[in-house]
Amino acid sequence: MNDTRLTNALTIDVEDYFQVSAFAPYIDRAGWDQRECRIERNVQRILELLEQHQARATFFTLGWIAERYPELVRRIVLHGHELASHGHGHQRASDLDRPAFSDDITRAKKLLEDIAGIEVRGYRAPSFSIGSGNLWAFDVLARAGYRYSSSIYPIRHDHYGLPDSPRFAYRANEALLEIPITTLRVLRRNLPASGGGWFRLLPYAVSRAMLRRVNQVDGEPTVFYFHPWELDPDQPRIAGIDLKTRFRHYVNIGRTQRRIERLLTDFRWGRMDEIFLARPGQAAAAVARLATAAST
Ligand SMILES: [Zn+2]
Repeated sequence: MNDTRLTNALTIDVEDYFQVSAFAPYIDRAGWDQRECRIERNVQRILELLEQHQARATFFTLGWIAERYPELVRRIVLHGHELASHGHGHQRASDLDRPAFSDDITRAKKLLEDIAGIEVRGYRAPSFSIGSGNLWAFDVLARAGYRYSSSIYPIRHDHYGLPDSPRFAYRANEALLEIPITTLRVLRRNLPASGGGWFRLLPYAVSRAMLRRVNQVDGEPTVFYFHPWELDPDQPRIAGIDLKTRFRHYVNIGRTQRRIERLLTDFRWGRMDEIFLARPGQAAAAVARLATAAST
């Protein structure tokens, strides 16, 4: 079959349900080790789903998780997926000063590389926390040896977002590409189109239409994200949280797995590095082909 669909980037932020930033005011990180950890079974289920659909993905993994579940990290790589970094302790990049941010991302990269025996090239900031106040983070990432970041969500949101930044991959500096989360441009506004609470809240057909539009109208691959806990309706409920946080975390959580399965069927999915880091090479090859064609 001649499949002309674009390959989109599927990304999974590997953290457990008690580590999400919105719960930080309610859960003391010193108590993380006492919580019931569900990351292993949830990632295992995702690996099986991806295998069934012959899809590849990028797993932005927390150093904290990798330290405790090294087998899980190796399993991700053995299944043919890209291992990337979500930092070590899931602190928002915007809450850290330069040395603390540098320590966090360097520690996570080294840990993941030591466990998996491969080079880690990608990074995603917790809660898309690179914005106008900490653009210096790109230099720190490049210096630590990262090749790309996927940390900017070009929307307006109460916790993150940089609505005026480019919607598609761009050079953040000489060495580093920033690959933003996908938005749909409607009436001079960017709408979130690729994961998280919106994906669980909106009917699936709306999400599918938005992603298709980006492929067909913008002609660009999309970057979609989700978390292992979003496929786990039986996760322990966190008590005493405010209504908005509760709604955002749990809305339609029992339906997410089915929706992810539909996404895997309706689109073609691949790894960030293969889609975006390979591009300059592809462009050079295309130019070479054109030059050959022109000279004959
Ligand atoms: Zn995260």
